[in-house]
Amino acid sequence: MLDIKSMLPEELGAWLKELGQPSFRAKQIFQWLHRGVTSFDEMTNLPKTLRETLRTQSYITVPTVERKQQSALDGTIKYLWRLRDGNCVETVLMRYQHGNTVCVSCQVGCNMGCVFCASTLGGKVRDLEPSEILDQVIFTQLDSGAEISNIVMMGIGEPLDNFDNVTKFLNLVNYPDGVNIGMRHISLSTCGLVKKIDKLAQLGLQLTLSVSLHAPDDETRSRLMPVNRAVGVDLLMDTCRRYFEQTGRRISYEYAMIDGINDSDAQADLLVKRLKGQPGHVNLIPLNHVEESPLKPSRRVRQFQQRLEAQGITATVRRKLGSDIDASCGQLRRKQMKQDQLHPGKDEAL
Ligand code: SAH
Repeated sequence: MLDIKSMLPEELGAWLKELGQPSFRAKQIFQWLHRGVTSFDEMTNLPKTLRETLRTQSYITVPTVERKQQSALDGTIKYLWRLRDGNCVETVLMRYQHGNTVCVSCQVGCNMGCVFCASTLGGKVRDLEPSEILDQVIFTQLDSGAEISNIVMMGIGEPLDNFDNVTKFLNLVNYPDGVNIGMRHISLSTCGLVKKIDKLAQLGLQLTLSVSLHAPDDETRSRLMPVNRAVGVDLLMDTCRRYFEQTGRRISYEYAMIDGINDSDAQADLLVKRLKGQPGHVNLIPLNHVEESPLKPSRRVRQFQQRLEAQGITATVRRKLGSDIDASCGQLRRKQMKQDQLHPGKDEAL
């Protein structure tokens, strides 16, 4: 069976040609799928026989809302979707002045092992298909009624560890006949897989690359992010410099501020040294507390920011949205997993 929503228009076209169909059918089907139809019968401008053929040879992914939490403070909505195979992933809708932004997941769980992150507890279960990443945008838009103008790939999973599916998703969501979100309205966040950053640079996409730096020195970064043990900050920064040279796109560096671990003046000064001479911007994130972790939010966020700015580095502090609804990614899925373990019958029904 073909996962029809993961197909690009040209792939759909080639397949339909094999089925002896005229080429304009590809566009019709693509449009229906990206509008979020849940069955082939809804594709009313297709002949019945074609709908029947599509049904026997392909399927339409349809996630269902397992949980939905809306923040009373700022209208942020967090969805927990149940996928075809019973796994769950999270999506967050954030309402900013510059437009509605959706934060999507790209894997079920994560293998990167960052010690402060809830998504990686329990490892990676599987990669998401392009359709399953796209569905998070389509169905969040349909369910909430909010028109989405921006996407951030900052949910569960490491996008560059699911390179092909993620880049295909970016292509799909960018199509004018579909959701039609411009690359400049998309951010992709990575823990720093250097070879894949180089590969991404070759594609020359106009998206914004965010790199989760979190520490300027190898000792601290390796402690927080196992991925650093193989890469190191020097190589990561060289790769980022190259990325900018090739794409002309400035990188945004994420820095989750953790009490007594990465928030010293010396670390701020080293961070300045690391970033001198390359255009970029630092996004300081107040650490979200994760139940299973002993790490605490820093109390020095403003001082750290001022120290960076005084030395010519632009640094912003990320506004916290949805703090009343476990909005930092991975937490809702963890809760659900614990509940599924208590009530295992639920999965079997799906
Ligand atoms: N795998 C990608 C995307 C993951 S999450 C990456 O590593 O970039 C998006 C951002 O949230 C990353 O910068 C991640 O390091 C950060 N993050 C994860 N857990 C956090 C927490 N408890 N508090 C603050 N930021 C966190």
